[in-house]
Amino acid sequence: MAERESRSHDATGIGDLIFMGPPGVGKGTQAKRLTERNGWVQLSTGELFRDHLKRQTPLGQMAQRYMDRGDYVPDDVTIDMVREFLSELTPDTRVMFDGFPRTVAQALALDALLAERSRSIGRVLVLDAPRDELVRRILARSRAEGRADDTPDVITKRFEVYAEQTQPVVDHYHAKDLVRRVNGLGGIDEITDRLIEGAR
Ligand code: ADP
Repeated sequence: MAERESRSHDATGIGDLIFMGPPGVGKGTQAKRLTERNGWVQLSTGELFRDHLKRQTPLGQMAQRYMDRGDYVPDDVTIDMVREFLSELTPDTRVMFDGFPRTVAQALALDALLAERSRSIGRVLVLDAPRDELVRRILARSRAEGRADDTPDVITKRFEVYAEQTQPVVDHYHAKDLVRRVNGLGGIDEITDRLIEGAR
């Protein structure tokens, strides 16, 4: 126990953060603001996949097949990528996992990977908003950014996959009393403040 404390990885002593929410809830926008403001390190698996895709790496080409359909990339691929990220991490950082874990298998793998490094999850933030608002936002984003996975059919698929595979992850952490639900409706600043409050 003493060794654990002396190797505590974050000044607040409350561990790493997971940031979850359905497609279109504004996680990406908020994750950037939160990490910049608090000095946390962000790991967005979606952004990593998109970056690989842009560079047309083998991993990117493989991930594309799944992303274009609104499916999740297979767990082993995603977990390997996160393992590599964690191996480069210094102990004194607080990580915000953004869009990971998205399946219970990923959550169990993350819990184990963190434990090996004397780290743990201290808080799980779940940002949420009504479905019609989410769809409206995604369609607006697709006009602005042209993301391939923002078409109506793929959007529907992403909501289904979220309900089936990612809702159980919320339940997994809820059972550990780590979940804080945050209302994703309102002004951008207002929501950032709510999230910071929830991360305490
Ligand atoms: P969203 O806009 O829904 O927040 P992201 O940008 O986080 O989406 O991710 C985009 C896509 O990348 C996902 O639909 C999925 O195909 C893939 N992806 C991202 N993170 C994961 C993950 N943890 N496991 C599997 N696939 C993932």
